Amino acid sequence: MSAQHNEILHFAKNWQQQLAEAFTSINDLCDYLHLSPGDLPFSIAAADDFPLRVPLSFAACMEKGNPFDPLLRQVLPIKDELFAYPGFNRDPVGDLPAAARTGVIHKYHGRVLLINTGSCAINCRYCFRRNFPYSDLQLSKQNERAAIQYIQEDSGISEVILSGGDPLLLGDTRFARLIHQLNNIAHLKRIRIHSRLPVVLPARITDGLINTLIQSSKQIVIVVHCNHANEINTRVIAACQRLKNNGIALFNQSVLLKDVNDNAAVLCELSEQLFTYGVIPYYLHVLDKATGTGHFEVSEPEALALMKQVQATLPGYLVPKLVKEKAGAVSKQYISGNS
Ligand SMILES: *Cc1c(COP(=O)(O)O)cnc(C)c1O
Ligand code: SF4
Repeated sequence: MSAQHNEILHFAKNWQQQLAEAFTSINDLCDYLHLSPGDLPFSIAAADDFPLRVPLSFAACMEKGNPFDPLLRQVLPIKDELFAYPGFNRDPVGDLPAAARTGVIHKYHGRVLLINTGSCAINCRYCFRRNFPYSDLQLSKQNERAAIQYIQEDSGISEVILSGGDPLLLGDTRFARLIHQLNNIAHLKRIRIHSRLPVVLPARITDGLINTLIQSSKQIVIVVHCNHANEINTRVIAACQRLKNNGIALFNQSVLLKDVNDNAAVLCELSEQLFTYGVIPYYLHVLDKATGTGHFEVSEPEALALMKQVQATLPGYLVPKLVKEKAGAVSKQYISGNS
C-alpha cells in the first residue's frame, strides 16, 4: 500500500480488500507514520521470522511521528526478538500436547477450543502463537468433520471456543456453515469467538456475519482483544455497538505488555473506554513466555502493583482478572496478592 493511499477510499472497501491492503512493508508503514526506518529499531531478521502485518485501520490509530507509539510497538519487528531470554520457549502454554484432534484443543472442563485458521489480520509481536506449526494444527475443510464429531460425542462439552489465528478471517459462507454445524449439537450451550478483528479490522463485522450470529440457536459470546484505549476508533466503536445491540455478550482480553500498557492510568482508561462502548473487561494476561517476546515481559510483582492501583481507581466490574496460562493446569491461573 502506498503512502498516498486515500483513507476514505480504503475504508469504503470491503474487509477482504482492506485486509489485502494491510501494511507489510516497513517503508510504507514509515512513510504513512512520517517516520524514517532509521528512527526505529526495525530488524529484517525478525520480520523474516514473523512478518510485519498491520491493517490501515489499526495503523490509523497510531500517533504520527512517534517512534515509541504503543500501537506501533505491538507490530514492529525489532532486534530484541532475536535475543534468547531464559525460560522462553516455542510452546509455553502446552497447547501442542493438549490437541485432542487436529485443530481441537481440549484443556479445560466443558470447553474446547477450535483452531479454525492459522492466519491473523495483524501480526502481534508478543503473540505466543507466532511459533506455532499451524499447517499441522489448524482445521482444514477435511478434518473439520472429525472435530465436529469429537464435540458431538462428548456431552460434557458445553462451550466451543472458535480461536486461531483469527476465526473471523473465515469468509461469511464458511463461517456460517461452521456455526450451523455447531447449532446442530444439542448439548452445546454457547459458542464463543475469540477475535481481534472487531478492533483491528472492524469492517469484518458485516451484515452476513451479524445474521449468522443472531440466527444461531446458541448463545454467542465474543471476546475481543484490545490492549490500549488508542486502538478504539469510531469504526471499532460502531462494530462493537452493532454486536452489542444484536444481543451478543462482549468481553475484552488484553495482554500486559512492557512499554505498551504497563501503566495504571493506561489500563484504567482502557477499561473505561471499553465499557463505554459495551465491552466488559475480562482478562489481563501476563505474557506467555514464547520465544521472541521476552522484551515485552512485565514481572508478576510489577503486574500486581499495577493491579492494586487499578483496583483502587475503578469500580470492581471494570477491573480485569490478572491471569496466566500454565501448561497442564485445569484453568487459567489467577495472579493475586494478599490484599
Ligand atoms: C483460555 C482457554 C480457554 C478459555 O478459558 P476461560 O477461562 O473459560 O476463558 C479454553 N481453552 C483453552 C485451550 C484456553 O487456552
Ligand atoms: S492470535 Fe491474536 S495476538 Fe496473536 S497475532 Fe493473531 S491477533 Fe495477534
